[in-house]
Amino acid sequence: MSTIAGTSTSKPATPPTSNNGHGVQQPSEAMAKLIANQAGKGDKPIVFVNGRYVPKSEATVSVYDHGLLYGDGIFEGIRVYRGRIFMCGQHMDRLWASAEGIQMEIPISREEMVEVMRECIRLNGLTDAYIRLVVTRGAGTLGLDPRKCPLPGIVCIADQIALYPPELYRDGMKVVVAKRPRIPVEALDPRIKSLNYLNNILAKTEAIAAGCLEAIMLNMQGYVCECTGDNIFAIKGGKVFTPPSSAGALEGITRRFVIERLCPDTKTACEEKMMRIEEFLTADEVFLTGSAAEIISVTGIERDGKVHTISKGEGPVTKKLRERFRAIVTSEHVPED
Ligand code: PMP
Repeated sequence: MSTIAGTSTSKPATPPTSNNGHGVQQPSEAMAKLIANQAGKGDKPIVFVNGRYVPKSEATVSVYDHGLLYGDGIFEGIRVYRGRIFMCGQHMDRLWASAEGIQMEIPISREEMVEVMRECIRLNGLTDAYIRLVVTRGAGTLGLDPRKCPLPGIVCIADQIALYPPELYRDGMKVVVAKRPRIPVEALDPRIKSLNYLNNILAKTEAIAAGCLEAIMLNMQGYVCECTGDNIFAIKGGKVFTPPSSAGALEGITRRFVIERLCPDTKTACEEKMMRIEEFLTADEVFLTGSAAEIISVTGIERDGKVHTISKGEGPVTKKLRERFRAIVTSEHVPED
C-alpha cells in the first residue's frame, strides 16, 4: 500500500451514495500535494481506480475482473480542451447507453462520474488531455456469468495522447481496406462501446502489415462501416457523406459534432448514406474522425495491394472542417454537452 493510498485513509472519504459501493474518494489538499510529489517522481498520472486516486504504478485491477478475462465492460475516450470536457454530456449518455446495452448498472451517478474526471484532470494539472473512462463488469469467478460479479469496476485515466504523428495531419494518411469483416450488427450492436475490440485489433494488424495505421472495415454485405478506431467520411462535389450506424459504425461523438456543428457552421451539406468502398475510392476527399484522432485526412486507400490516390494532401473541405474544429476547441467556448 502506498503512502498516498495510506494517507487517504487518514482523511474521511466522502460517504458512499446509496447504491454506489465505491465511495468516490475526494482527495484533500494535503493529499493532492502528496500526489503531486509522487507524480514528480515519474509515477504519473494519478489514476482513479475503484474509488481511489493512486499513482500509475498502483493503478491495478483484479485478475478476476471480467473486463480482463472476457472484455466484458464498456469505455469512453474523451478529450479535454482548455480544461473543459469536450461533449461531456454526450459521452455520459453513450456510456450509460452502452451499460444498458450490456445489462450492467453503473454503480455511481453521472454527476459523480463527471466529478471523477474533473478530479483526475485537476490532480494531474492538465488542461489539454485525453480521458479514458472504463467501466468493467467487475471481479467475479472464472466463468462468463456476469451475475457472479457483484460490483462493476471503474477506472479513469487522464493523460496525453498522440494517436497519429503530427505530419499526417498536414499530409494526410494512407489506410487499407481490411479483408476481415466487421462483426454483424445483429451479433453486436456497434452503439455499445465495449471493451471487446479484437475484431478491430485484427483489422488493425492488417493495416500494420500494409504499412498503414488504420483500416477501413466493411460489413458482411460489403458496405463501409468505419475504421478500427475512427469514423469515416467521404466528400463528393462539396457534399459530405458518412455511413449510418446501421451499417455497423459506432455513433462517434466527433462524427456527430461534424454532422451537427461543423457542417452547418461551414454551410457544408451532409448526409448519412450506405456506401460501397468504390464511393470512397472515387471520392474527392476522405477523412476520419475520433476523439483521439480528431479530424484527419485520408489521401490514399489500399485495396488488394493497389493504392488508390484520393487527393494530393488534405483537401479543401476537410481543411475547412478541421480548421473550424480547431477554432472551437481552442476557443473559450469549448462545448461540454
Ligand atoms: N469507431 C470506433 C470503433 C472507435 O473506437 C472510435 C473511437 N472511440 C470511433 C469510431 C470514434 O468515436 P468518437 O468520436 O466518439 O471518439
